[in-house]
Amino acid sequence: DGPLTVKELADKMGREVSEIIKKLMFLGVMATINQEIDVDTATIVAEDFGVEVTEVEPAEDPTEIKEIEDAPETLQPRPPVVTIMGHVDHGKTSLLDVIRQTNVTAHEAGGITQHIGAYMVRYKGNKITFLDTPGHEAFTAMRLRGAQSTDIAVLVVAADDGVMPQTIEAINHAKSANVPVLVAINKMDKPGANPDHVKQQLAEHGLLPEEWGGDTIMVPVSAKKRQGIDDLLENILLVAEVMELKANPNRHAQGVVIEAKLDKGRGPVCTVLVQKGTLRVGDTIIAGTAFGKVRAMTNERGEKVKAARPSMPVEVLGLSDVPQAGEIMDAVDDNEARTIAEKRIEKQRVSEMQKTHKVTLDDIFNQI
Ligand code: GDP
Ligand code: MG
Repeated sequence: DGPLTVKELADKMGREVSEIIKKLMFLGVMATINQEIDVDTATIVAEDFGVEVTEVEPAEDPTEIKEIEDAPETLQPRPPVVTIMGHVDHGKTSLLDVIRQTNVTAHEAGGITQHIGAYMVRYKGNKITFLDTPGHEAFTAMRLRGAQSTDIAVLVVAADDGVMPQTIEAINHAKSANVPVLVAINKMDKPGANPDHVKQQLAEHGLLPEEWGGDTIMVPVSAKKRQGIDDLLENILLVAEVMELKANPNRHAQGVVIEAKLDKGRGPVCTVLVQKGTLRVGDTIIAGTAFGKVRAMTNERGEKVKAARPSMPVEVLGLSDVPQAGEIMDAVDDNEARTIAEKRIEKQRVSEMQKTHKVTLDDIFNQI
């Protein structure tokens, strides 16, 4: 299937290398034993020896779901997905709570009690999804598995404390994930608040505020006093608008597992952020080695959801097993799920075995 060396070709055909080299010379190709020859040449040589050549398609990995490229005309605008990051105690949880509450109308009051690891807010006719997971770990875990879950990172920096180690860590995560950063300078209510100092520190780490000629939006807020929250949300929407985030809602769903756990009564429960397509009750899904039929879906308010479109987080019931956070979830044909899952389990088993095997060899070498 790809180019191969003269030796490999000889081995494949059960012939002497010298015979192959002779034949190649006859064809006007001067080749040595380890020289690579292309498929066409190898085919001619093989056929000359009376060996039948079958075209081999590039091997497909049966544990992978084939990625479908969505045509531009199928893409439709989707809400931004935001992760809040920052140093411990700078106010990530407080900010997420305040934002969550801006969305609660009187009639829903007390409605958003479900913690599903993500929630969607409606703000002035727009939607924004917030990942409500312990920031950095989730971000890194998902990226390790190749999932890009976040469109925009909101970096929370306490105005009285300034840039700290995890602030820098967050900046680096966002940078390597190529995710734009919007800064929320929090705790503006505190007597020691010094936003200019924060801006100066951030500038030293490559985030230059807009008002200083850079391109990073920095919004002063106070989660405690609920100040600056509108400004923050409006700026998130502004950044999102420039990004022109889109996805095709009319295809089989693909998403990323945000959180998963085993619930005593309900079995495996996982929160999925739908990224492409529409996830529906009754869909057959697979996430890692877990698979099943979507039995029920609920949003962060505990309301039943029949269909989840791109950027919408939903809690999903019906998987056979608890998938890992960061795993990709695909909606597949009914008969595919189990087969793919079994192949994935087998692949895992083999790679585990190889790991153990290596360890044993190392052990032997260490004893010598
Ligand atoms: P996290 O570790 O980043 O999630 O930070 P938390 O949200 O848990 O906040 C840490 C502490 O800072 C808590 O005691 C909060 O009450 C306090 N805090 C958060 N935001 C503000 C704020 O805007 N002003 C003041 N004064 N305190 C805040
Ligand atoms: Mg917290």
